[in-house]
Amino acid sequence: MFSLTGKEQPVSESLIDALGFARAGSFLQGQARLGQFPRMLEGQLAQPKAQLEGPVNWALQGESTTSGRYFLHVTAQAKPLLECQRCLQPFVCSINVDNRVELVRTPDELDTDDLDDNSVERIVGSKRFSVLGFVEDELILAMPYVPKHEQCPSETPDQADRSARSEEQETRRQSPFSVLEQLKKN
Ligand SMILES: [Zn+2]
Repeated sequence: MFSLTGKEQPVSESLIDALGFARAGSFLQGQARLGQFPRMLEGQLAQPKAQLEGPVNWALQGESTTSGRYFLHVTAQAKPLLECQRCLQPFVCSINVDNRVELVRTPDELDTDDLDDNSVERIVGSKRFSVLGFVEDELILAMPYVPKHEQCPSETPDQADRSARSEEQETRRQSPFSVLEQLKKN
């Protein structure tokens, strides 16, 4: 198993009173490591140590409305190694969470239709609400259903990255293998 060392707060201490947090408009942020999110990595490629130790920055902002609705705005970034479903090569996928969920008091409220906005995700805001558990849930929801390179290394160089435009002429003359090497170096 992966042992937890370092300066981030332990998972067990990341419990908040979710509704109180939203009511107070509190803010919390931190840095975890990818290895702390085993549910997210389940069924994915075995992650190299560098990946497991990679940072997951997250932030949580509580919000409430005058009409008594409570929200959590969550952001998080993670970079797991996923298998490209087009070329079957592993690649580091950037996962970005930027979501606002509504907190409700009881499970019964999860499916109520009387609220005007049905597009918003609702969760029960407990008094012992796991921040990192919630961050992990949101990361899982943000994982691509079919992970793919933006551009697979084996693809033709005329689809090359916009930033590589100046090198385009030269790239066109290179073999696919030297292009692959170039990508590995970057
Ligand atoms: Zn690919």
